[in-house]
This record gives sequence, structure tokens and C-alpha cells, in this order.
Amino acid sequence: MEQSEEALFHLLERGTSAVLVVKEAEEQLLAAGFQELGFGRPWSISEDGKYYVKHHDTTLFAFTIGRQAGLDAMRIAAAHTDFPCLRIKPSPDVEAGGYAQVNVEVYGGAILNTWLDRPLSISGRVALAGSDVMHPKIRPISVERTLGVIPNLAVHMNRDVNKGIELNKQTDLLPVFGLVSEEKEQPFLHFLAKELDCKIENILDYELWVYCQESPRYAGISGELILSPRLDNLTSVQSLLTGIIESRRQKGINVIALFDHEEVGSRTKQGAGSMLLVNLLHHILECFGKTPAQWAECLYHAFFLSVDVAHGLHPNKMGKMDITNKPVLGRGLCIKEASSQSYATDCEAVAVIEQICRKENIPYQKFVNRSDMPGGGTLGTIASSFLPVKTVDVGIPLLAMHSAVETMGTRDMKALTDLICAYFRI
Ligand SMILES: [Zn+2]
Repeated sequence: MEQSEEALFHLLERGTSAVLVVKEAEEQLLAAGFQELGFGRPWSISEDGKYYVKHHDTTLFAFTIGRQAGLDAMRIAAAHTDFPCLRIKPSPDVEAGGYAQVNVEVYGGAILNTWLDRPLSISGRVALAGSDVMHPKIRPISVERTLGVIPNLAVHMNRDVNKGIELNKQTDLLPVFGLVSEEKEQPFLHFLAKELDCKIENILDYELWVYCQESPRYAGISGELILSPRLDNLTSVQSLLTGIIESRRQKGINVIALFDHEEVGSRTKQGAGSMLLVNLLHHILECFGKTPAQWAECLYHAFFLSVDVAHGLHPNKMGKMDITNKPVLGRGLCIKEASSQSYATDCEAVAVIEQICRKENIPYQKFVNRSDMPGGGTLGTIASSFLPVKTVDVGIPLLAMHSAVETMGTRDMKALTDLICAYFRI
């Protein structure tokens, strides 16, 4: 197994919610000798150092300082830690006809019917009561055994199912987490308390997500495809982690930003639409004694790479793709462009990335939407409205983006990882 694929499979298995993605990222960074810093605490950083800082447990920044910190050549790459899924609501237990269910809402733009008949479990964090009112105890949790399923209705009870059905987000998506036993009320909360080894009354609140428990796997006659949940956007998260860990530059600062909340628009306190990244960069420069005038000088020379998945050509729906730009799985990463600026589109910046790809023999393709389709957007444009620097959107082409299980080309992981490593090295 190629090294970049091994790292990806590991993160796909363990990064079951944004909290767990950040926890995994932290473990990789600590193993590579990065030191933790905290927002709201004084920083002591030095040339040749490696650092990371978390925010709300779901957003993380890591950065390395060159031997000569210098004012020029700040390189930034960003991706997102969240993905479409179901979120468990407060007062979760629902009893229906002897079944134990949990009340959920949809997070992000999931393809709802792909969540039916899948093995499901839960992941996230729980806030527990403690003696310090201002600092409740926060416990991450990821249950590895299968907890439930959202069952389809049998075809015999809905003969029109293959004409397409609309699923109601409140009533049709409640997972079944077991059967109700007579002696136990609130089975889910009891289960949660047992998992956390605490009393039910100590559970104050939580961010708990229902995740699809399918494992990543190779597919295709020669293993040329990978099928997995969460390829959007853990492919990018892992390539950024590998890049910041393995690549160093003599001069300048390399930064990765792993943001939460991209799937709900990024404009949140820990999303790419916050001031967090700009504040972080200012703070780093301040630690090196740079003045606000020098911050501006430095930031205008920076480069921003926004890394998120792209759409690959779908063999059964070829008409959905642009007529001359048709990225195919396995033929390299995509550079994404849109004149609406839903993807950052700046020919000078794109040319820089193309030159890196050519120099390093990294396969790449270009993605644009069909002119009669709006397509999606990502965090690049949102973050760069606070950070007006050269920006490029890149990512791996997928089939079935936002499905419970997505498909990618195996070789594209190496292409993206090679690009991030080269970007942080050259
Ligand atoms: Zn994405």
C-alpha cells in the first residue's frame, strides 16, 4: 500500500467527526515533534520550531518556522474537518412501537437516501457537570461498534420507491438504535452515561454525530478506486498533515488551517469565515517583533491554497460536466476555477501551482462547472476575503460527493500529497 493511502485509510477509519479528526491530527503532529500552543495564553516560539493550536476542539492550525523566519514566503493551506451527517438533538430518546430511536437533524448537504440501510454509530464530544462552573468537563467519544441503522421501507409497501421518494428530514431519518426494554427509559442516554462512566444527570450537553460506519476499501479490477465515507474532506486534511510534517523550508513560515463548519457555510466562530486565521498569522509575526506595517508587507507576499474535493466525470451522467473540462478519477488532482469566484480564480496563482506540478511530475486536471449549473463552493474564497493574497482551489475529484460513501481514484491521493509536500518545500 502506498504510504499516502495508508495514512488516508487510518484517518478515514478514526476521523469519525470533526472532534475526532482534530484528535487524530493532534496525535500525528505530536508524534512528529510539534508543540501545542493555546489561544489566550502567551506564546514562546522560535526559528526552526513546529507548533499547533486548537480551537473549540474542531479547528486546528499547525505551523513551522524556517531557520530564518524572514518576512517573505508565508505559505498557507486550508481544508475542512467536518462532513455532512446527522446530529443528535437534545432529549434524544424516541420510543416508537417498541423501537429505541434517537432524534436527529441533518448537518450539511447530505444525499439523504444514501444513509438508509448503512451501519451507523456515534462520535463527537460531551460536556459533563463538574465543580468548576466556567469549565465543564469535555469528553471526546467515538463508539466503534455498530449502534444502529435507518431502515428503508420494503418495496412491497412503497411500489413507487424506484420513481424516487422525498425523505422528510424530521420523520424519515430517525435511526433505530435497538429495541426498547420494559425496565429502561431513556436507553440512549443510559448507554451514553455508561460509555462515559458517569451519571445521566451529569450529561449537560453534547455535539454528537451519527457517522456511517462503512470501512474504506479498494475497488476496481486493479484496485484503482477507493470507496469510503468522508473522502470529502479527509483526503485534503491528511495531505495537509503529511505536507506540514514532512516538508520544511529554510526561510519563511508554512501554515495549515483545518477548519470546522465548511458544510454549513464557514461563517462561524471556528470556521474559515472567522478572523481566526488572520489573528493567528498576526500573532506569529508579533512573536518575531514585526510591526503592523510589516505584517501587511508579509501577508501581501503570502500564498493561500484551499484544498477541498472536486467533481469527477460521472460515466452515467456525462452531460452534467463542462463540455471541454472533464476531470476523470485517477488522472491527478483538480485545480478548480469559477468566474463567480465560488472557487478562487486567479491565473497568476494558478500558474504557480501548475509550475510546481510540472516541475515535480504531479498529474493535474482542471475543473469548472457547466455554464448552466451553479455548482458548489468552498472555504477558499471565504477565507481569502479576510486574507487578500494569491489563492488557488485544488482537490481530488470524487464521484457521489456528499453521499454516505464516496468514490475516488486511488492514485490521486499521492498526486495531492506530492503537491502539498512540494508547496511547503520549494
Ligand atoms: Zn468539502
